[in-house]
Amino acid sequence: MGKHSNKRPVAIIGAGPVGLAAAAHLRERTIPFVVLEASEGVAASFASTAHVRLFSTWSMNVDRAAARLLEASGWTAPEPTTLPTAGDLRTRYLEPLAGLLRDDIRFGVRVESISRRGFDKVRTVGREGAPFVLRLLTLTGHEDIEASAVIDASGTWGNPNWMGANGLPAIGEREHRARIHYGMPDVLGSLRSRYANKRVLVVGAGHSAAGSLLALAELTTSAPRTSIVWAVRGKSLARVLGGGENDGLKARGQLGLRLRALIDAGQLQLVRGLHIEALVEQGPRLTVRGMDDAGEARLENLDEIIVATGARPDLSVARELRLRLDPWLESTEALAPLIDPNVHSCGSVPPHGHRELSHPEVGYYTVGAKSYGRAPNFLLATGYEQVRSVVAALAGDLEAANDVQLTLPETGVCSVDFVDQAGADQAGGCCAVPTQAAAPTCCPGPRQPATSRCCA
Ligand SMILES: Cc1cc2nc3c(=O)[nH]c(=O)nc-3n(C[C@H](O)[C@H](O)[C@H](O)COP(=O)(O)OP(=O)(O)OC[C@H]3O[C@@H](n4cnc5c(N)ncnc54)[C@H](O)[C@@H]3O)c2cc1C
Repeated sequence: MGKHSNKRPVAIIGAGPVGLAAAAHLRERTIPFVVLEASEGVAASFASTAHVRLFSTWSMNVDRAAARLLEASGWTAPEPTTLPTAGDLRTRYLEPLAGLLRDDIRFGVRVESISRRGFDKVRTVGREGAPFVLRLLTLTGHEDIEASAVIDASGTWGNPNWMGANGLPAIGEREHRARIHYGMPDVLGSLRSRYANKRVLVVGAGHSAAGSLLALAELTTSAPRTSIVWAVRGKSLARVLGGGENDGLKARGQLGLRLRALIDAGQLQLVRGLHIEALVEQGPRLTVRGMDDAGEARLENLDEIIVATGARPDLSVARELRLRLDPWLESTEALAPLIDPNVHSCGSVPPHGHRELSHPEVGYYTVGAKSYGRAPNFLLATGYEQVRSVVAALAGDLEAANDVQLTLPETGVCSVDFVDQAGADQAGGCCAVPTQAAAPTCCPGPRQPATSRCCA
């Protein structure tokens, strides 16, 4: 074992798929660990989206060390080419895995903050030798525990972005929270009555928005008075409509194709280039106010709103640690040029590991969805390779830690025309880069401030 070896465990924050994979790798290397999970079960994000069918197959969704551990206990891997729902992933993979690791998992424990014993953020001399201290909020109150290292796999799902175009809550958004669902509601299942025969606004231009729009469209067959409004901040739909048949993940490509068919059939009202600023009551209904190219714009008579504008990491937990974050993505600084959506759209990310995921605070790593900060398109396969590398580094096995390998399926977006039907070209993707479906990254040029486009 490496320099973090001692009797103190490695603390893993979050029992999501990536946190549990980290635990499986630590178990294989016989390094003591404790998983700290805020909710009462595994993968809170996938618990709230259990109805959602994933677009990556089982073969991409299971970590190798976790599979070895499970198979030794008699577990049979699901058919590798099929697509699980988020709920399947929990019940058929993550819950059995957590069962094997149960002695080292604490559920119902929220990590509120992290520091080092006897050291605030400012003090330097001797810092690296001091154990980490994690302040926990448990059912019985606060408690501190010590750890030799911290793997922060707490995700971003608990911190959804607002509907305000500028990243702030729209005026009135907080007040009308009861009429807003952040993420992907179970439109065809448990929340059917909330949306049936209502006028529903979906905000956002990612895969979550696409999934909700398709579900609402399906709802109209049994609830024909349901009407769908889709508002996006940009003008191009290239990113969400995706690469279609060129997408390396077939189901992800299909999502875009089905959405395109809905638009073409006029099954939804599409509002492009809307910068939402405020939400106001209008009798029993809501009105969204904002700006578009023509000036002030309004969407009226709304019953419900689904906000699918992504999520952001909770940085407050590591306020007392020395972090090096990208100024706008809030990912680790080294990872940002590899994943910045202003520059990349292909879905491929160069292999990266412990070096890109570390911070000036030696022994603290951000992994999983949280490692991407505000950048979208994180895939589980990425997280599994991240934690394999990080755990190898913690074990002092730098040869394995540095040997990072990752091949992700391309979105195929690099090979489509970015100028969409409206003639707008704001996808922030590959701009004038010619067809390059197999290229490792879209725009290999230098990364530019957020105001610039990659090919500007
Ligand atoms: C609807 C949806 C569909 C997706 N589809 C795919 C797909 O098809 N393929 C794919 O590869 N990826 C997909 N993703 C992306 C990604 O793989 C998931 O977001 C995945 O859940 C990320 O795993 P994670 O372990 O990093 O974080 P999470 O799964 O979010 O786990 C984080 C855990 O940490 C806990 N936690 C948070 N804060 C604290 C705290 N302070 N203290 C203690 N515990 C805490 C949470 O309760 C949670 O259980 C999808 C994501 C979503 C939301």
